[in-house]
Amino acid sequence: MNTFDDLNPASGETLAQISISSSEDVRAAIARARAAQPAWAALTVEERAEHLAGLGPRLGEAAEDLAELVTREMGKPLSEALAEVRTWERQVPVELAEVILAMQVEVHPTKRGETRLHRAPLGVVAAITPWNFPIGMPLQVIVPALASGNTVVFKPSELVPLVGAAIAKITAELVPAGVLELVQGSGATGAELVAGDVDLIGFVGSRATGQHIMQSASSSLKRLVLELGGKDPLVVMADANLEAAAECAVRHSLRNAGQVCCAVERVFVAQEIAPEFERLVVQKAAEWTTGDGFDPDSRMGPLVSASQRDKVVSQVDEALSSGARLCYRGETPDGGGFFYPATVLADVSPGARISREETFGPVVSLTVFSGAEAEGVRLANETPYGLGANVYSADLECAERMAQGIHAGQVGINQYLGGAPGLPWVGARQSGFGFLGGIEGHRQFTLPKSISIPTTPTADS
Ligand code: NAD
Repeated sequence: MNTFDDLNPASGETLAQISISSSEDVRAAIARARAAQPAWAALTVEERAEHLAGLGPRLGEAAEDLAELVTREMGKPLSEALAEVRTWERQVPVELAEVILAMQVEVHPTKRGETRLHRAPLGVVAAITPWNFPIGMPLQVIVPALASGNTVVFKPSELVPLVGAAIAKITAELVPAGVLELVQGSGATGAELVAGDVDLIGFVGSRATGQHIMQSASSSLKRLVLELGGKDPLVVMADANLEAAAECAVRHSLRNAGQVCCAVERVFVAQEIAPEFERLVVQKAAEWTTGDGFDPDSRMGPLVSASQRDKVVSQVDEALSSGARLCYRGETPDGGGFFYPATVLADVSPGARISREETFGPVVSLTVFSGAEAEGVRLANETPYGLGANVYSADLECAERMAQGIHAGQVGINQYLGGAPGLPWVGARQSGFGFLGGIEGHRQFTLPKSISIPTTPTADS
């Protein structure tokens, strides 16, 4: 049996050896999910939601254990791991209520009667997810996919297989056999799942993997929902509240050690206020201590893997050798572990690799610009990505024009992006294809299907 090592990123030590699902295992998991789907779909959405209603409370009961597992397996501070579990304890019932609304039959009158628009489940969904929010990312696919009448074969990231297995176990205990299946392994296992007899691929991960999946899915025209990476800009205009903008830039470049799809990855600062802004950023970044996630003094844990750290090191080194200035670099603990300290770079060229490719590391990257509105928008749009963006300016009309001009699914003005609950999470351009969340997102796990019925007697009825 083939296995892979599951490592603790804070020490580099092996936590467990995980069996890789063979091709036969993947096919069998899909076949079980396929066999279970008609009976699951035959339940009403309310009945399915009733099955799944135990998930929130179970997450609550297991919260401490799950949070410890998250910290051990991917490194984030324990308080953040616990917050992630608690968020989903509260979010599951919200999602279930949204799916019930999303699936209500719409009745449209016709000349002879009515057309009923149903939302039919698609069949078997492959849920393939990343490691950075190892509770939230899988559940945002699995919960709406199941509640809307699909069965699911779930492949967690190979960097968080134990958290993935724990979520799968808790969920599978609430539903009939075969409704939620688990497979384990890396990209090769994911590729087998994508090539298998599934109807929709619900994927959250990198742009590069999204491209592979799209290519593979094209041969049988499988449906896709791809939530991909980002390179989010934060534009600081000369009239901005610098304290607030610097706090946003630092917090959202460094949170989860920068391993967030909508992390601030590029900060464009108006020339006039650049020295003061840089001073504030360095002062705030110095508060972000790095250490083991179980140490309550750590604001950042390690990066998830050696290769993730190598990627950050190479982008930062390349930026420094092409003219960027190192304004601040924190300290990392001695010993093993994939730590990388809070880092602030200034004078970063918009052409540098660190300005174009997703970094996914704890780096605040500052670039000075003229302060002109059009240039801010142009710089913000200089990547193929379009996940999120942030604009800080005292002139709200100007900020709103900029928000309209920036290619992004969500923009925050004088605040970090993300606003009212219940809205879809959208990646514009190459940050996504389809989207998750909210009623519109949940409907992507279904097919609108219309059935027309005469309700008044006619000659041919
Ligand atoms: P990744 O693309 O390397 O892997 C994601 C998942 O895909 C893993 O389970 C992996 O095993 C699997 N996989 C890899 N190759 C595959 C293939 N050829 N076919 C099928 N499956 C394959 O991404 P990652 O490193 O796990 O996660 C980080 C990425 O996820 C970042 O780019 C981040 O921005 C993105 N992300 C996006 C969102 C969003 O909502 N848009 C949220 C979280 C993370």
